[in-house]
Amino acid sequence: MITPQHNLLGLTQKELIDFVLSLGESSYRGGQMFRWLYTRGATDIQSMTDLGKSFRERLDKVATVHGLRLVKQMKSPQDGTTKFLFGLYDDLKIETVLIPPSSAFQNQEAAMEDEQKRLTVCISTQVGCPLDCKFCATASMGSKRNLSVGEIVDQILQVKRLTGKRITNIVFMGMGEPMLNYDNVIKSVEIITAGMGLAARRITISTAGWAEKIRQLGDQKWRTKLAVSLHSAVDETRTRLMPINKKYNLHALISAVEYYYSKTKQRITYEHIFFDGVNDTEKEVKHLVKLARRVPCKINVIPYHSIAFTAPAGLAASLRPSPRMGEIVERLRASNLNVFVRSSAGADIKAACGQLAVHMERHRKRQPSISNLASTEIGIAG
Ligand code: SF4
Repeated sequence: MITPQHNLLGLTQKELIDFVLSLGESSYRGGQMFRWLYTRGATDIQSMTDLGKSFRERLDKVATVHGLRLVKQMKSPQDGTTKFLFGLYDDLKIETVLIPPSSAFQNQEAAMEDEQKRLTVCISTQVGCPLDCKFCATASMGSKRNLSVGEIVDQILQVKRLTGKRITNIVFMGMGEPMLNYDNVIKSVEIITAGMGLAARRITISTAGWAEKIRQLGDQKWRTKLAVSLHSAVDETRTRLMPINKKYNLHALISAVEYYYSKTKQRITYEHIFFDGVNDTEKEVKHLVKLARRVPCKINVIPYHSIAFTAPAGLAASLRPSPRMGEIVERLRASNLNVFVRSSAGADIKAACGQLAVHMERHRKRQPSISNLASTEIGIAG
């Protein structure tokens, strides 16, 4: 339906074609607009010069290109990781992170893959998140709302525009659970691949384990990569850390992962943080080795830093990084598993999921000025 406020940003090529047809224009105009929006990054209708002056004037009366508003941009002097805080139309905030290759992994581990050539944008799919993982700052926001397709893809367009860099990879690993906003995530993938020229294999969708949607993703025509936040291969432990495990236990999750692999032949990435005395025991390591052998995979081990600034309670308040992490990594490698240790990329600028948005929200409530935020020390979450 055409409304005076119709936002073109976020429409797929087919939707743009339907839109111009509804205005009595030729379908090729939809293709032109698609390229203007996503390939050339146009931010207003008047800059789409080959549409013709009279059509642009007509379009201006019924549509708009409404994007995100940059609230804050912080670059880590330590590793070059850049964090962007964007404002939405309803004044909610989301985070996006640009991760340079040298900060992705510790030491020379990045050289073991094509990671060294990557420039990755980590994007958000929800404001807040309902899944309540005990190690995550975003969880403390609760669930606010899903992002629209335009709000998802504009994070990439804005980062390109603000940095002038060529983005090589996208990870759906920012605020929110992508599988809870599945339809908009899939439309975004369609736009990223067709409009921004990135192959689906350059896109990773990360989930806390929404098994039903992992299966659905396996049936999609886009061969995106899948990352699963695992954090334990023992049901009892995983349920304590990630309440989603009550809905989809490890059997349901790994069955879905096996289905996904059978359809896509894409290696799975498991994300894992080791917590002192929680999931770093001998039993946990044995179960992890067994689980990781079921489907071709790699394991990304992520260092944990406290989310104490969110004033967590219960288990979340007692989580500490495991002093055994290095030893466990060696054990896993000795079991012939592919294991990479992530660096604490952007720890000095709150680059982990939800940290900056949560911190700014709490800071705003205490005092209106946010100017001294950059000097406030907080850690990195999962
Ligand atoms: S880790 Fe991801 S799925 Fe879990 S609460 Fe945080 S944003 Fe949600």
